[in-house]
Amino acid sequence: MKIKAQAISHVAFAVLDLERAIRDYSDLFDFDEIERFEVGKEKVKVAMLRLGNSEIELLSPISDEGSVAKFLREKGEGLHHIAIRVPSVQAAIEDAKSQGLRVLDDEPRIGARGAEAAFVHPKSLHGVLLEFYSR
Ligand code: ZN
Repeated sequence: MKIKAQAISHVAFAVLDLERAIRDYSDLFDFDEIERFEVGKEKVKVAMLRLGNSEIELLSPISDEGSVAKFLREKGEGLHHIAIRVPSVQAAIEDAKSQGLRVLDDEPRIGARGAEAAFVHPKSLHGVLLEFYSR
């Protein structure tokens, strides 16, 4: 089954200093901050910024633990993942598995405002960490 996808939802960057990154994107390009939240389990704080129809997600660790802290230690700041909007994250997980992709989540994770998400391992998609996202 082809994975049903609708659009690029957002592009996410790992950053060391969330405030500074928000300021840079707002000042340099006129991005608007539309949302900010913490994901305690992932030890990360998140800001969503919008420019026109496009959104970027800035990820910054709130402790030395968690995958974003590890990412920054190993790779430094930069592109973290690309999210594709799908009508059903659960269906995308199942379709991706049936296509032989290595999906990191068996069930959707629940994010901010009830958004669902699941990740596909970069080894499955030419080195890019891909997120299925419900928004
Ligand atoms: Zn994301």
